[in-house]
Amino acid sequence: MNDTTTGAGQATAMRTHLCGRLDASHVGSQVRVCGWVAKRREHGEHLAFVDVRDHTGIVQCVVPGTVDVRSEYVVAVSGTVRHRPEGTTNPDLATGEVELGDCEVEVLSAAEPPPFAVDDRVDADEAVRLRYRYVDLRRPRMQRNLRLRATVLGALRASMDAQGFCEVETPLLWAPTPEGAREFAVPSRLHHGSFYVLPQSPQLAKQLLMVAGMDRYYQVARCLRDEDLRADRQFEFTQLDLEASFVGQDDVLDAVSAAVTRAVEAVTGEPVPPVARMTWAEALDRFGTDKPDLRFGMELADLSDVFAGTGVKAFAAPAVKALVVAGGAQTSRSRLDGWTDRAKALGAKGLAWFRVGDGGALDSPLDRFLADGERAGLVAATGAGPGDLVLVVADEHRTACTVLGTLRVEIGGRPVGEGPFRYVWVVDFPLFDGVDDEGRPQAAHHPFTMPHPDDLGLLESDPLAVRSQAYDLVLNGWELGSGSVRIHRADIQGRVFRALGITDEEAEARFGFLTGAFRAGAPPHAGFAVGVDRLVAILAGEENIREVIAFPKTQSGADPMTGAPRPLAPGTLAALGLRALPPPS
Ligand code: ASP
Repeated sequence: MNDTTTGAGQATAMRTHLCGRLDASHVGSQVRVCGWVAKRREHGEHLAFVDVRDHTGIVQCVVPGTVDVRSEYVVAVSGTVRHRPEGTTNPDLATGEVELGDCEVEVLSAAEPPPFAVDDRVDADEAVRLRYRYVDLRRPRMQRNLRLRATVLGALRASMDAQGFCEVETPLLWAPTPEGAREFAVPSRLHHGSFYVLPQSPQLAKQLLMVAGMDRYYQVARCLRDEDLRADRQFEFTQLDLEASFVGQDDVLDAVSAAVTRAVEAVTGEPVPPVARMTWAEALDRFGTDKPDLRFGMELADLSDVFAGTGVKAFAAPAVKALVVAGGAQTSRSRLDGWTDRAKALGAKGLAWFRVGDGGALDSPLDRFLADGERAGLVAATGAGPGDLVLVVADEHRTACTVLGTLRVEIGGRPVGEGPFRYVWVVDFPLFDGVDDEGRPQAAHHPFTMPHPDDLGLLESDPLAVRSQAYDLVLNGWELGSGSVRIHRADIQGRVFRALGITDEEAEARFGFLTGAFRAGAPPHAGFAVGVDRLVAILAGEENIREVIAFPKTQSGADPMTGAPRPLAPGTLAALGLRALPPPS
């Protein structure tokens, strides 16, 4: 990582050096460092040791006499750099060969005892960490994560600038956008009863910027979605949002690849190999998900041909898919029952299992129902050998794939931040993703995504078969971002709105500003958004994006430090034209 983020050479009016930067080359120098007391030890009445920490590390300071400081006091220490005495060097510390001798300690602020030790080894409760986030962030791991984040953002910006993208800020007080997420609303003081909406992404704003002739836009954009929080989801998150005119899908993939590569290289120093590409249909078929984790095998096998016309009732389904757990034949019955329950919870009718023995013999409650050809076919198609376990789901194709795809990750997966990094572009997503309760197709990406040119004719007759020009970037099983070629013609946009069950009048009322803009001359355009929190978390080896966000919310959406969300005073509510209902009991 570059040194601007670790603060090399930052002499100021108060200090000459940073704690973690002192080494044998400074021996003999008179220096002054500032920081927090990490530890204090008395050595009789005549000597005290004070470890002082700043964001670069810790240095040991030796003070003649006693010193009245405690953990997390803020101090300035003047002393002379010297070699540590023989046998007392500390190889775990960057400054472990040296110490400051004959120190004078000035207390800049006293501190209450910290709620937990400022140490990566201390595993404090999440709520306590967030309540005292300003202490939590002093820990080396959190310091490293936030600085890594800054390095990533700097590299992303540098790449976008170098590629001719222009940074434009778009409003936070905006109007609803149909991108599928629940939105946060902000009451208007000047227009009682009316609300702004916080953007779930700058999607429409950036499309309008294309109509406006910006040609290439980007923004490090804060996006807000009122959705349940998970390891890879917070209410507010950061995207590298971009859009370009007169481009096609490949241009966007190249631009995003260049930016992400630059960010990854800035952190790891390792070049990113060319990113593989896979269609959505292939990802579903082979990995049972549109977010394939390519760090391990366990690809799904297709047994549909083997069981076509089968007499086994449980396997008489449009698709029969299988997952091999290598060496899994010894899996206990209770574990198998657990996986079966899980498969059912995920929407399968059931889960069949086969323990593979010597010579391809199968051990399973279903074995006696199989024809010989089916038995041999199952072993051949899955490539399972003695000692392996085969899990089978027979169902609609999509269900069979996704259920086994989830089990694949739950049984064989590893933490997302564990190397190697395996990127893949998933392309050719369907335009619509199933239907709602009233039988209306639902947009898979968002309603502004251009249908695949070969499938435009199917928009009215067979909408669910229409592919789109939407693409995702996936890293280690996490969706790192999505984008698409956009619809830039009002007629096609109208057809897609109608397919979604949005009437012309409704479309005019909700998105008249967009369709109106299209009538003003819209260039063909396409774009993407990279999830910065997810990218940073994976690069930092973290499994929860909370660890790379300075002030995140808890699982229940609260901020234990500020107490948000909080009730507003009645007068404030009245000024906004609001009255709060009592909380549901
Ligand atoms: N607005 C999209 C999203 O937030 C990204 C895009 O299509 O550019 O996922």
